[in-house]
Amino acid sequence: MMGLFSKKPPCPICGGKIPLILPSKIEGEYICNNCFGKIDMGADQESSLTMQGFRDYLAFYEQNQILKGQFVISEQIDFGLWDTKITFDYQNKLFCMSKNLDKTVFEGKALKAFVIKEDSTPLFEGSAAGIRRYVSTVPERAIAMAPQIAQFAMSRQMARTLDRLDDGKVNHSTPIQYFHIPEPFQAFNVELHVDHPYWSVIKCDMDGPRFDHTHPDVNNYLRDYQHNIEEIEKLVAAIKTMALPETSVQSIGLGTSEAQREHISSAPTVDVIEEIKKYKALMEDGALSQQEFDAKKKQLLGI
Ligand SMILES: [Zn+2]
Repeated sequence: MMGLFSKKPPCPICGGKIPLILPSKIEGEYICNNCFGKIDMGADQESSLTMQGFRDYLAFYEQNQILKGQFVISEQIDFGLWDTKITFDYQNKLFCMSKNLDKTVFEGKALKAFVIKEDSTPLFEGSAAGIRRYVSTVPERAIAMAPQIAQFAMSRQMARTLDRLDDGKVNHSTPIQYFHIPEPFQAFNVELHVDHPYWSVIKCDMDGPRFDHTHPDVNNYLRDYQHNIEEIEKLVAAIKTMALPETSVQSIGLGTSEAQREHISSAPTVDVIEEIKKYKALMEDGALSQQEFDAKKKQLLGI
């Protein structure tokens, strides 16, 4: 009798049992979970995998177990969600995109080039020709958001003050406000270009810092960003040690950006002055105390 739970022929690779629920298929043939779980290859390669291709892959997989057996963990770098790590072996020049080495082990010499971007803007680019580090505009763009953030904090505080004015205690009659302005960038995108039968590019990403939705703060953002950058620098150093030991790191465009940063910190923008005027008017209307105004003014001027 045919049906949803009808008995399926055994796995053509190992003779193992085919699962009843959502069995995997290659070229229309059911494959057991144990065999299917060994597949770790680029999406293009996986989508065009034939039965013969799969048998060839399993031979590669067995060979790869030898590299796995030799692996000595030198460094693990946290990456992305769900406790993902990139694991490096400096001694044998190997790496694996898994903390438990349960994925393909790559030889460092297979890595031909890499790019790390902030969204789509390159931060690092490397190959045998050298490693380039580009100056990020993220800190500047975060600092430039200070007036918007101050305005949000002020209007949030105003809403709370008005709440209290109603009957002397907080009653949340005004809706809670959340900060929804997007951050200067969303994620560090890493691409490792490899010369390999089952991979051409290995991609992974790490989320950039996020503003707190109720208490956004530029300094907190910059501190989190700095932590991220330290991880990225560790990753670049690890890639260099493992795959590109002869290369040097060259910084591109540092001069101009330093000059821009100088400009931002020394001259308050028109926006900031306009902001201060607004708060001054609020104080004169009695919505803010002198103390609150002074604190806000100092914050806006960054003093
Ligand atoms: Zn099987």
